[in-house]
Amino acid sequence: MKKLRFYFALWVAKAVRLAMRLLGRNASYLPGKLAVKLCPDFLAHIIPPKTVIAVTGTNGKTTVSNLLTSLLRKNGYTVANNALGSNIQGGVVAALLEHATLSGRVRTDAAVLEVDERSSLLVYGDLKPNYLVCTNVMRDSIKRNAHPGFIRYLLDKAIPAGTKLILNADDLICAELAPQCADRTYFGIQAEAPTGAPDLEGLDLVYCPHCGGKLEAEYLRYDHIGRMRCPSCGNASPAPDFLVTEICREAGTVTITQDGQPQTYKLLNDNIVNIYNQCCVVAVLSRLGLSPEKIAAGLDTVEIVKSRYDHVESGGLKITMQSAKGQNPDACARSFQYVADQPGENKAVFFLIDDKGDSQGSSENPCWVYDCDYSPLAHPSISQLVFSGPRCLDQQLRALIAGVPQDKIALWPSFQGGGHLVDTEKCRDIYILYDVYLDKEALSVKKTLLEKEAGK
Ligand SMILES: [Zn+2]
Repeated sequence: MKKLRFYFALWVAKAVRLAMRLLGRNASYLPGKLAVKLCPDFLAHIIPPKTVIAVTGTNGKTTVSNLLTSLLRKNGYTVANNALGSNIQGGVVAALLEHATLSGRVRTDAAVLEVDERSSLLVYGDLKPNYLVCTNVMRDSIKRNAHPGFIRYLLDKAIPAGTKLILNADDLICAELAPQCADRTYFGIQAEAPTGAPDLEGLDLVYCPHCGGKLEAEYLRYDHIGRMRCPSCGNASPAPDFLVTEICREAGTVTITQDGQPQTYKLLNDNIVNIYNQCCVVAVLSRLGLSPEKIAAGLDTVEIVKSRYDHVESGGLKITMQSAKGQNPDACARSFQYVADQPGENKAVFFLIDDKGDSQGSSENPCWVYDCDYSPLAHPSISQLVFSGPRCLDQQLRALIAGVPQDKIALWPSFQGGGHLVDTEKCRDIYILYDVYLDKEALSVKKTLLEKEAGK
C-alpha cells in the first residue's frame, strides 16, 4: 500500500513536472512539494544514486554545491542537483524526481543536494547521504534560525550515524557536529594566520561545549572561525586533513596540503570565505577518489558562480558585485570586511541588502543589523555609502553607530534605481553588495553606472 502511494505520487509529480516544463515554467520546486504532499515519506522510497552528497552550513553551501556539481560533471559524472531550485525538502525531492525512472530509481551517478539546516530532520530522516558537508555553523537570521546552538542540535539529531562527514576544522561548532559519525574529514586554513590574542566576547562560541569552561583562541579569522582550545579540558579545534598552506594572491594560486603532499590549484576567489569553500570542495572530491591532478584540471575551468561575485572595469571605473545575504549578519559582515580589506582609496559601496524575500508574506525584522558588524564600513578607504531600499534609514542608523560619518552616507528609499547617487567623479572603485533576491536590481545599478561612465 505504501509503495502504491509512492508510485502514485511519483507519476503525478512527474506528469506535473512535464506539464510545467511544456508551459515554460520553473519546475524545480512545486513537483517536489506535491510529491511529498501525496506521499510524506517519498524520500524513503525513491532509489537514490550510489553517491549522495548533502551540503549544508550557514554560509557557503550554494557556492560549494555548485562547484561540486560542475567539477563532478567535468569528471564524467552525471549529477542530480538542486542548484536551480530550493534547498528545502521540496527542492531536494524535485531534484531527484527530475532524474527518476517511472519505477523510482534515480539514474545519475551522484546527487549533490544543498540542504537548508532547518530541513535536516525532514530530509535525512528518509534519505541517508553517503557524505555530508558542513561549511560552518554561524549566527544567521534570528527570525528563521534562532541561534547556532539550536542549528547544531537539529543537525546532531538528524545526521545518520553511517554518514561520512566533511567539516570545517576552524569552526569548533561545526567540527564537533554529529559525534555519532565516526568517519570525519576536516579542512582548514593555516596560511595568513592572524596574530594577537582575540577576545571571544559576543561571538557565537565562547564556552567549551564539553565542559563549559571559557575557551581561548590562538587566533580568529572572523567571528569564531579560527583555532580554539579549552584550557580546562583540553578540547581543541581538530587538525585539518586538508590544509591551505599557502595563498598567493598575485599569482592567483592556493596550495592545499593533504598527508604532507602540497598541491597548487587556481585560486577561484581571494575572499577568505571562498578560500574555505574551495578547500572544502577539494576535500570532498578527494574523498570521492579524484586525484589532485584531476581536481586541479577541473578547477582551472570553473569560476565562482557569477551571481555571487562579478567584477568589471570600464574606462578606469571598477565595479565589483558581491552577494551579501540580507538577514544573515555574518555573511554581510564578511562582505563589508572584504571591501575594507581591498587595496585602493575612495571606494564607494552601494547596498541592496534589505531582505526583499523577508518582507513578503511575513513580518519584517530589521534587528539583524544590530547583530551584524558594520565597523568595517567606517574604514577610511571607503568614501561613500549608498543605502537603498525601504529600510535605508535603519541601515544609516546602524552605520552611524559603527562610526561612519554622516556626510559619507546617501540614501535611496527604493530597490529600483539609485545608481545615479554614486559619486563616480570621486569614487572610481565601486562595490555593489546585494541580497540574493535583489540580483536584478543590482545589475540595473551596474548598468546605470556603466552608462553614466560611457556618456561622460
Ligand atoms: Zn572544555
